[in-house]
Amino acid sequence: MFYARLHVTFVGVIATLVDSVVVAEFAGYCLHRLLHSDKFPALSRGHLIHHFLVYGPTQPMRAGEYHDATDHRFSLDNVGIEWLAPSAIILLFCWAAMGLLSVLPVYQALSLCTLLGWPILMFSYLHDRMHTENFWMTRVPLFRSWFLKARRLHDIHHRSVNSKGFMDTNFGIGFYIFDRCFRTLAKRHRAFNWQGYQSAIERYGLDESELVSLRGCSKALFHKEIGSRTVSQNTNRQMFNQMNTLRQGMPRQNVH
Ligand SMILES: [Zn+2]
Ligand SMILES: [Zn+2]
Ligand SMILES: [Zn+2]
Repeated sequence: MFYARLHVTFVGVIATLVDSVVVAEFAGYCLHRLLHSDKFPALSRGHLIHHFLVYGPTQPMRAGEYHDATDHRFSLDNVGIEWLAPSAIILLFCWAAMGLLSVLPVYQALSLCTLLGWPILMFSYLHDRMHTENFWMTRVPLFRSWFLKARRLHDIHHRSVNSKGFMDTNFGIGFYIFDRCFRTLAKRHRAFNWQGYQSAIERYGLDESELVSLRGCSKALFHKEIGSRTVSQNTNRQMFNQMNTLRQGMPRQNVH
């Protein structure tokens, strides 16, 4: 038989798929956690545009369309260089490891496809759908409860900043197994830490000017107030006044 000639077995295929998914989830968890540390500030900055400027503390978590944080910088279909470069390194490392362990070429190919496809599915496709309304999974019984649970944990990820300005919980996207293992899982919202937020903004220079440079996205972000015009200085000032009011008055944002 064809399978036998290649020494490929059903169990081998399943084991390869499962192993690859686990490795991909682990790599995704580590990379996401790395982006929220200060080890590689240039990479962190890219990811924090998503967190502080596009889906920031005074902005809604969801809109009709996804607002990507990669306008005017290098990216592949919404995915910024801060994800692409480390992912490429991880993928090459896995490939080299399989070569050294003399894994059958068929399994190597299967594994590499999974290692590439799974993160695209989870960390790009699913993540972006967590920031849009009316995603199909919310209407399908089988997926609904899993997706909504994962989405709530991701909302918590967005709103949990520690006093030094680092997001420190819920680094998984679809699955939070490694958050459980490494004790970074948070099931409840906590009061938004404006002081921590301020220090993060200062650390990475994510200020008003950065928001203006995200023109393409900002247009959609502010479409309610300004229609199809580009963001004016005025609108920005309004937003930041509003932000200051919130900072002083409101202990926490409700995101549901
Ligand atoms: Zn994040
Ligand atoms: Zn947009
Ligand atoms: Zn997000």
